[in-house]
Amino acid sequence: VGIGLPGLWHEEKKRILFSPNIPFLSNADIWEPLQKIFSKAAVHNDATLAAYGEWVFGKAKGMKDFVLLTLGTGIGGGIFLNGKIYTGSCGFAGEIGHMIINYNGYKCECGSTGCFEAEVSAKAITKRYFEKTGLILTPREIAQKARQGDKAAKETYETTGKLLGVGLASVVNIFDPEAVILMGGLSLAGDLLIKPAKEELRKRSYVYRNSQVKILISAIQDKAGVLGAAAYGWKEGFR
Ligand SMILES: [Zn+2]
Repeated sequence: VGIGLPGLWHEEKKRILFSPNIPFLSNADIWEPLQKIFSKAAVHNDATLAAYGEWVFGKAKGMKDFVLLTLGTGIGGGIFLNGKIYTGSCGFAGEIGHMIINYNGYKCECGSTGCFEAEVSAKAITKRYFEKTGLILTPREIAQKARQGDKAAKETYETTGKLLGVGLASVVNIFDPEAVILMGGLSLAGDLLIKPAKEELRKRSYVYRNSQVKILISAIQDKAGVLGAAAYGWKEGFR
């Protein structure tokens, strides 16, 4: 069985060393109980396994170089280079959600400020709208208001979209991927978010302007994680 968990999975120590959004997972002894339940378990970072799912079953099928971003409560990142998961030297690569895009930005759960996920996430949208109006609403409710013409709601999505574009510009500049695939709740906000993001990306990234990089929305969405974990577990189990 394959299992995707949020945080830094250390393959040799068989544990999550740090999970900013689910603190009780940090350094918890989960490997033995998992082995007992499933007899054979393969674990990896959840966003990386979502990228794996997108590669086997989704829009990244046949691609060698792509980046997957899950846009939800936070931002997860999965990087495929040369047809393989890019793990980095310790297995921690792909923490794109903690790429800093705003030096003086919102505080992040990881201890830094202005991380991509602190600026572009469900929480950030709620916070940005609250700062303008004093109202606490979900991103979906704010999107609805924006479509009805609410100025603060439109500005909230415009700003968040631009910041998404800022982050995408760095991702595209660094990796020159075939595609960046977006999934998760915010990826479904449509033009409200994606239009300002693409405009900002075009303005800021000459790699984007000169390449064929596609910005795609996942068609399998949250199924990618489950399918990716299953496919990864299958591959690891029969290695
Ligand atoms: Zn962070």
